[in-house]
Amino acid sequence: MKKLLYLLLLCLFTVTPTLADTPLAVTVQSNKADSGFRDHLTFTLSATSPTEIKEVFLFYKVIGQIAISRNEATFTSGVSIEASFKLDQTLPANYMPPGTEVEYWWKLVGTNGEEFKTDQARLLYLDDRHEWQSQKNDRLTIYWYEGDAVFGQALFDRANVALDTLQTDLKVNLKDPIKIFIYASHDDLMSALSAGAQEWTGGVAFTEFGVVVIGIEPDALDWGLRAMSHEMTHLVIHQATNNPYSDLPRWLDEGVAVYNEDKNELVDDFKPVLDEAIKQDKLMTLRTLSSPFPSDPLQANLAYGQSGAMVKFMVDKYGAEAMGKLLEIFSEGALYDEALKGALGTDSDGLYNAWRVSVNLPPMPGTESNMPTVEAQVQTQAEATPAPVATAVVISPTQTAPMMDNQTTLLLIAGLCCCFGGLVLLVIGVVVVMRRARG
Ligand SMILES: [Zn+2]
Repeated sequence: MKKLLYLLLLCLFTVTPTLADTPLAVTVQSNKADSGFRDHLTFTLSATSPTEIKEVFLFYKVIGQIAISRNEATFTSGVSIEASFKLDQTLPANYMPPGTEVEYWWKLVGTNGEEFKTDQARLLYLDDRHEWQSQKNDRLTIYWYEGDAVFGQALFDRANVALDTLQTDLKVNLKDPIKIFIYASHDDLMSALSAGAQEWTGGVAFTEFGVVVIGIEPDALDWGLRAMSHEMTHLVIHQATNNPYSDLPRWLDEGVAVYNEDKNELVDDFKPVLDEAIKQDKLMTLRTLSSPFPSDPLQANLAYGQSGAMVKFMVDKYGAEAMGKLLEIFSEGALYDEALKGALGTDSDGLYNAWRVSVNLPPMPGTESNMPTVEAQVQTQAEATPAPVATAVVISPTQTAPMMDNQTTLLLIAGLCCCFGGLVLLVIGVVVVMRRARG
């Protein structure tokens, strides 16, 4: 009986709404957000309620990110409140690039746990030290403050071409619209970045914010068009392949960005140094190019140039579908060779060797067995384009017969020795038996 009473009480307790579910009656007088670039984002709320407001929280999240930040507001409890929360932008840990969009809302709690939530509102955090002009479509917005409309239009058009190339040549679609901010000088650019930015930085892609910030002087438009395409390519590719397990190999990340600067030909910074390295056969393996690039400027240019050339070779040889598949596999956190094998049918060494053959160099010594098999190439090419296989596949002499690896060779020699030894013993045995028979 006691047990039954307990269960009844428990049920009653469970179905009775908790006080937190009870709404708090609130009238909002004003709900505002204000910002000063590199200084603050401040949220303020004026509200009244017939009963006392005991707690006030400001929640916010950056558009494109998952994390929600919950913050206690500054206010004095009562039936009429003036609450505020300030996000200090002078602290490097709080840094947000220009163009960050923040979604925010308030939660008010009464004495007995009753709650009230405001609707979600948005704040666009801009660098208010400049008079921005802008050009936008549903994929991107370009902001600039120096240079005329023709300058802005040229950048806008080039950015759209870069997005189109990613779509057609690598099957990568933009996930969220992006914003590109063009600063007119290096000093202006540096003042917009966080305190930790490197002095030589020419532009930064803030992947998690969907923002590219870059310095382009109006009289350096040609360079600017390439640099902007490069940085925004990093942004789009990172958005498409973002996962908690692994990054893209460096050569692929930079290679796609270099490829998208000019898909027809390597730009002048990289072409001569790559041509010379091919001539002297002083190239870098893909394994080397998977690590951070060299700090020596000439070697760095070779690393960028070779990565760009590799990506162009891959797009031309394997096709857009295979490139899209490769990035999709990487987005699942695959290991480098696993992704290459899954999408292209070869590993790092095999791909590097195939590219070497395409620039009239022999496969690198000791890795010939890693050349992609004929079957794998045919299959990949057939998937990529319906073009006749015979004209599309390049078969080098080393590919036609599978190479014997060292282990197999040793086993064969050992086997032959064994057979030969057995034969010798047999002959000796026969001779001994015959002599005894004669004797
Ligand atoms: Zn880059």
